[in-house]
Amino acid sequence: MKTVYLDNNATTKVAPEVIKEMLPYFDELYGNPSSIHSFGGYVGKKLSEAREKVASLIGAETDEVIFTSCGTESDNTAILSALAVNATPGKQHIVTSSVEHLAIKGLCERLTGKGYRITFLDVDGDGNLDMDQYKKSLADDTAVVSLMWANNETGVIFPVEQAARLAHERGIIFHTDAVQAVGKIPINMKSNTINMLSISGHKLHAPKGIGVLYVRRGTRFSSLMTGGHQERGLRSGTENTASIIGLGKACELAVENIEKENAYVKRLRDKLENGIQKRIPGLRINGENALRLPNTSNTSFQFVEGESILLLMDQLGICASSGSACTSGSSDPSHVLRAMGIPYNLAAGSIRFSLSVYNTDEEIDFVIEKLPPIVERLRNISPSWKTSSMRANA
Ligand code: PLP
Repeated sequence: MKTVYLDNNATTKVAPEVIKEMLPYFDELYGNPSSIHSFGGYVGKKLSEAREKVASLIGAETDEVIFTSCGTESDNTAILSALAVNATPGKQHIVTSSVEHLAIKGLCERLTGKGYRITFLDVDGDGNLDMDQYKKSLADDTAVVSLMWANNETGVIFPVEQAARLAHERGIIFHTDAVQAVGKIPINMKSNTINMLSISGHKLHAPKGIGVLYVRRGTRFSSLMTGGHQERGLRSGTENTASIIGLGKACELAVENIEKENAYVKRLRDKLENGIQKRIPGLRINGENALRLPNTSNTSFQFVEGESILLLMDQLGICASSGSACTSGSSDPSHVLRAMGIPYNLAAGSIRFSLSVYNTDEEIDFVIEKLPPIVERLRNISPSWKTSSMRANA
């Protein structure tokens, strides 16, 4: 059975060019980049080249790029650093949104119990940030603002550059979780005032377990890790050399291809949405009226469980995600869809399709053909569908 992989916001295939670039660093060029000898020094030189490629994708300086182990580490470091450098004036307020990834949301919730005050900003029905509430939330004791660039579930894009300007005017450190944005939309750190930005390799066709924290020159920073002074002492720990080199290659590919790949992926995403919209009544495309990533489609199907759709699609080799966070045996609709005010019976039937340049028209045709009978089959056994007026019109 062929796999139709439409779950690229969860993780992506490592590009063949990236794998090729990485392989020598496991068995031939395995030196430690910090070593004095030239065997290790060569690897150090290659790390510098990778750093240049990452910097080039986001318009950064090379000394603003810190390699980490993942997006989660970058997110946690950014918040904890901003709190540490603001500890002396006693600033204990964090502004974030109600739709952040758990790498930010979970940390903020934990900090609530430690005396920090957190403002979780609202979003509207399309997932857009409440900018008035944001402006009002900035206070004299605000240590840091953390707002995601693009949402992992809906693809909705926040106006982070505008939000950073407002924070900057008040001297507040601004961080953005750009894990889903980097490589999918153009980003130029030279044209904004964002202090810190998180990247995760496995979302842009590099391997898992490699991330970046961009820290703008002049931003006060406190490192999380203490040890061997790697990354100019800002993130100790022997570098994951092969993965850093792989990430460099993935960023180089993104610089070359971002425009044409975005147009390609958006065409397929729109084809998928139009195709299923024509064939399936009672669906809602979440974030449809907002500015969205070109690859993401989050769709709610009324009167069915998202998990049930996923299981039946899985039997046909189609991989996607549901909008539910299955925790401790319950399948509550995701906090993102709940924050958007989507009614329970819609939110519980949500599926996220996230595409990449490796998807094809044939794959999208396959999903458009197979999904309607799956939804129909599930609705036929749904008690609420049987009594709904929509059924009569279907
Ligand atoms: N932030 C966002 C928006 C994400 O989508 C993810 C991963 O899904 C992360 C952070 C965490 O990244 P990582 O898996 O590299 O820790």
